[in-house]
Amino acid sequence: APAVHAVGLGKSYRRGQWALRNCGFAVPAGRVCGVVGPNGAGKSTLFGLMAHLFASSEGELRVFGEPAGTPALRARIGSVTQSRPLYPSFTVEETLRLGRELNPGWDEACAQRVIELGGLSPRARVGSLSGGQRSRVALALAMAKRPELLLLDEPMADLDPLARHDLMGLLLSDAAERGTTVMISSHLLAELDGAIDHVLLVQSGRVRLAGDLDEILDGH
Ligand code: ADP
Ligand code: ADP
Repeated sequence: APAVHAVGLGKSYRRGQWALRNCGFAVPAGRVCGVVGPNGAGKSTLFGLMAHLFASSEGELRVFGEPAGTPALRARIGSVTQSRPLYPSFTVEETLRLGRELNPGWDEACAQRVIELGGLSPRARVGSLSGGQRSRVALALAMAKRPELLLLDEPMADLDPLARHDLMGLLLSDAAERGTTVMISSHLLAELDGAIDHVLLVQSGRVRLAGDLDEILDGH
């Protein structure tokens, strides 16, 4: 089964207004898939559906062959979403400790690598961190959970270019080593250049193109 499979998938937050409509695509397991499109296209909505932050309004969404949102899938998915649910009064250290307690497959060395890469102080309170630092903590939590599917919604958006380069390198080598399926969004295809081998182009609530990156670029 593909890692993610959508048929006629749609999401409406308000009656008569569709953030996503009639989306169909399949992401093969073990690939690094870019989700690319302009702001407001529906990328975060798609990530919200895959992470089951909310339910779809129509259509079908399957993750590893199971309907999105089953309890068993929670352990197999790690996500960095735009809502970034971290406790502001917790320190970085306390946040990681919670992750360790909640996740049986927790990899502490992985968490430490992500935190140390940006020189984040373990004693800093999450509420005092910048947006980029907070997303680094969220990324550490999501990666250290050792999921089979990693959902990353603009995880590098607030990072400086060097930190972004280092983190992408770590993320990709780690995913390749473990065969993790990765879905990562950006409003710039160039930002994901060299990192992805599969792509979904999202525009005005539709998945316009989905497939192998080389094949899509050759067809242009
Ligand atoms: P992207 O991540 O590509 O910027 P979004 O998925 O955030 O796109 O947004 C897609 C559309 O859905 C936009 O028109 C946006 O205003 C709308 N939208 C997103 N989140 C909500 C929400 N919680 N309530 C109502 N409308 C929303
Ligand atoms: P999940 O429900 O599978 O843990 P979420 O989308 O709820 O995924 O959370 C995104 C990531 O942040 C996950 O990897 C999760 O472990 C972590 N996380 C979720 N909630 C919190 C929290 N309140 N404090 C710290 N980490 C959290």
